[in-house]
Amino acid sequence: MALPDETALRLLAKRKIETGTLPREAPESAFAGKGSGLSCSLCEQPIAASEYEFEYASDGGEVPRFHLRCQEIWRLVLTEWQTRTPARADRPRYS
Ligand SMILES: [Zn+2]
Repeated sequence: MALPDETALRLLAKRKIETGTLPREAPESAFAGKGSGLSCSLCEQPIAASEYEFEYASDGGEVPRFHLRCQEIWRLVLTEWQTRTPARADRPRYS
């Protein structure tokens, strides 16, 4: 099964960040290993054992896991999103 193309994945990543389905801040530590067969948090396709899987530590809740390509897209979109989204009113960025 073909994975969605990059444009579609970027849109999906943006939507998932906005809705809070994906973390809004990149976790500090990541674990890369063999695919577990579980679904990728971005594209929702299973990560096969023949592929790399990136797993992020999470303080409770669901652990985000990604294909190599999906985590690159997620981090890229996340950086763009953080740059574009104004700081929250109770935590001004420029003051
Ligand atoms: Zn994926």
